Amino acid sequence: MGGRLARMLRALLLAPPGAGKGTQGERLAELYRVPHLATGDLLRRHVAGSTPQGRLAKDYMDRGELVPDRLVIDMILDRIAGEAPLSGFVLDGFPRTLTQARQSYDWGRAKGRTFHAVISLQVPEDELVRRLLERGRSSGRSDDNEHTIRTRLRVYAEHTEPLLDFYRGRDILVEVDGTGPVPDVTARIGDALLPLAFP
Ligand code: ADP
Repeated sequence: MGGRLARMLRALLLAPPGAGKGTQGERLAELYRVPHLATGDLLRRHVAGSTPQGRLAKDYMDRGELVPDRLVIDMILDRIAGEAPLSGFVLDGFPRTLTQARQSYDWGRAKGRTFHAVISLQVPEDELVRRLLERGRSSGRSDDNEHTIRTRLRVYAEHTEPLLDFYRGRDILVEVDGTGPVPDVTARIGDALLPLAFP
């Protein structure tokens, strides 16, 4: 455990909407004492603050579509490499397109900061829809309605799923069963990360 905490994890969660990226991302970030950066949360903050980025992103988000790559890449690289550069982090919701993956990979290579692990949470589609509808009843998130949920799942399959092969080819993909109680999933992720050496 001590050894685990002493290391600097750079990981990302790659999974469809409703798979538990947010929940597991927070727990993992706490465990490894690194910041948790969720693009969805960062974007919702921009929307709430009605910033230029937020005004641009809002309609895409309400429709369940991806916001333009440039906006998201700038937003994330600014957090990771901006005024207070981070050597460790858990990313959730980024990258979500091959362009985002390639640009962050090139950036990581150039800075010696590539990701140590890409965690894929596996959850069957009917379970995803059930979880998202349930969340929609309490979260008030405008994109947690059935129509938008279907769009988000389709967008995931089309644009984000191909990233699994991108990272598998770079030998950093870690596949974890995302069903069952939250602490069990966290434990599975922790176990899967243990054999990985990261400085
Ligand atoms: P979920 O994973 O449940 O769909 P998020 O909070 O991660 O929820 O994302 C909400 C919305 O924010 C997405 O549907 C999309 O419009 C936008 N978004 C988040 N991350 C990205 C990204 N990396 N690229 C483009 N759009 C994004």
